[in-house]
Amino acid sequence: MPIKLGIIGYGGMGMWHHKNAPKVKGVDVVAAYDIDAYQVDVAKKAGLRGYHKLDEFLKDEEINTVLIATPNDVHKDLAVASANAGKNIIVEKPVAMSMKEIDEIIEAAEKNNVVFTVHQNRRWDKDFNKVKKAVELGMIGDVYTIESRVHGAGGLIYGWRNKKECGGGMLLDWGVHLIDQILYMIPNKVVRVYAELFSVLNKDVDDYFKLLMKFDNGLSAQIEVGTFCLKPLPRWFVGGNKGTLVVDDFEGHGEIVKLNKLADKFDAEIVETTAGPTRTFAPRPEEVKDHFELPDVNSEWIEFYANVRDTIEGKAELIVKPDEVKKVYSIIEAAFKSNQLGKAVEL
Ligand code: NAD
Repeated sequence: MPIKLGIIGYGGMGMWHHKNAPKVKGVDVVAAYDIDAYQVDVAKKAGLRGYHKLDEFLKDEEINTVLIATPNDVHKDLAVASANAGKNIIVEKPVAMSMKEIDEIIEAAEKNNVVFTVHQNRRWDKDFNKVKKAVELGMIGDVYTIESRVHGAGGLIYGWRNKKECGGGMLLDWGVHLIDQILYMIPNKVVRVYAELFSVLNKDVDDYFKLLMKFDNGLSAQIEVGTFCLKPLPRWFVGGNKGTLVVDDFEGHGEIVKLNKLADKFDAEIVETTAGPTRTFAPRPEEVKDHFELPDVNSEWIEFYANVRDTIEGKAELIVKPDEVKKVYSIIEAAFKSNQLGKAVEL
């Protein structure tokens, strides 16, 4: 059965889905609903049936799947109403404003026997998939630390994203993607979360945060998002007991550095550096290091809609599963709590 998609919230992301979802065979966008009359007109001009009222939109029988791309605070009510109207639901990230709201959506989806998933599209990012593959293949040995970082320079956050009551702030906006990536890559359980949130230039919401997740195998993952970082650090830094991996950007440029056989002959001596005499921090000569390309990956975002289509047809299991979405949210809740308490939260 083809997906006949109706979009709620025809703003930036609603339009993005309209443009991109039909690239997948068996996915058509047919209608849109928005509380802003202007955006409904934009949708009509783009060839969709435009609705000003939610109940009329939900009565449109051609729509079998609803994509919700509104500000975060109204996701839950719209998702529950759509499920109760018998529509499959795809909700933009972050799915909702609390664990309780996520449970309400899951309950409504189960009661109405419809598919529910969340658009965690960064699972298909090239940079992330290179790191994931390198970690899974053990290319740098046993990994002990992962740093996932997004540094922007704009500083100011606009519109509803700058309002706490709308679900604004960077932990919800970007944190949800970066936590999801780490949990998708590392199968172990998170046992402890520590987070610090800052409002550097934006009063009402966090515009910089740092989050540490400790896994039950000892691995430490750090996520850092800053909107006002004028000298950005690389997107990923991963340390293993056999080497180091760095990814610079979203395109996935970067490298793996490992020691070669000559390193066995390298007799570490105390050297005089600007920082003083040191052996542990003495620089390794270039000839003992080998540089490797990051692994090739073949990761296409369109797999997201293809998977939703196949799941609706009963031919596949969801890639973005409701219980995974809940796990990500449990980390977000723990991070807010840790920031409030000023100490780590055990899970
Ligand atoms: P936006 O402000 O550009 O668009 C939101 C639209 O929703 C507007 O047209 C607005 O009029 C409409 N709207 C607001 N309240 C509504 C309601 N109660 N009912 C119907 N329509 C309503 O915002 P955006 O940047 O498109 O973000 C929308 C959602 O998409 C957010 O949840 C955001 O986190 C998510 N998003 C995801 C990604 C991603 O990569 N997955 C990227 C950007 C945004």
